[in-house]
Amino acid sequence: MTRTCSGSHAISSPYLCGSLRLPFPPSWLAMIATKEALNPIKQDCKKGKLRFVHNCFPYHGYIWNYGALPQTWEDPNHKDHDTGCMGDNDPIDACEIGTMVASRGEVKQVKILGTVALIDEGETDWKILCIDVNDPQAEKMNDVEDIEKHMPGLLKATVQWFKIYKIPAGSKENEFAFNGEAKNKEFAMKIIKETHECWSNLIMKKLENDKGLACKNISVEKSPYRIPEDEAANILNHVSILLL
Ligand SMILES: [Mg+2]
Repeated sequence: MTRTCSGSHAISSPYLCGSLRLPFPPSWLAMIATKEALNPIKQDCKKGKLRFVHNCFPYHGYIWNYGALPQTWEDPNHKDHDTGCMGDNDPIDACEIGTMVASRGEVKQVKILGTVALIDEGETDWKILCIDVNDPQAEKMNDVEDIEKHMPGLLKATVQWFKIYKIPAGSKENEFAFNGEAKNKEFAMKIIKETHECWSNLIMKKLENDKGLACKNISVEKSPYRIPEDEAANILNHVSILLL
């Protein structure tokens, strides 16, 4: 049975939602649209401009499956005590490093391995490193040091990728907290719990939703934003779809 649900609010972590390694059409930068009803995945638009994933030598597009952990939120009114910067107002990002290329919108159950702290234009933007539990390599991957052990060079490439990926669009190099050092699984789990707590406060309306986030959902018990499934289906019936 097909159910209508929100990509940001309906699925419990640790699952990776919205895998985007193969852009189609090429180079779209797709994101969970957090300010649109039921949070569809669509091409991102910043300051009125559509965004693309540029190829940054020697990389071609994304070097992992890139998505987000649902039921998390980096609160822009909350100063992260590790980075000293406010949150970026998005679900927490995740890089799934397994060998299987995902399709857009696919949901994967993942093992958390570590995290790096990108500082994006002064905002905290955690990148969670994880692997699909069904990946052939997953059994031997249990913490951040296993990434270097079994996939040598990937951590370094990941930091470099995030450092330079906005340069073709005219931005400066990104910066990292901890000098780009990847933190371990325990640290990553702490960050996920903290951002889950922030999401929980948002979805339960314990704080003001002053950034215009679309919080309607069909599955979060006791959430003031919860709506019936037929109302959600009705919202989708009125969405315009552009097929390319
Ligand atoms: Mg982010």
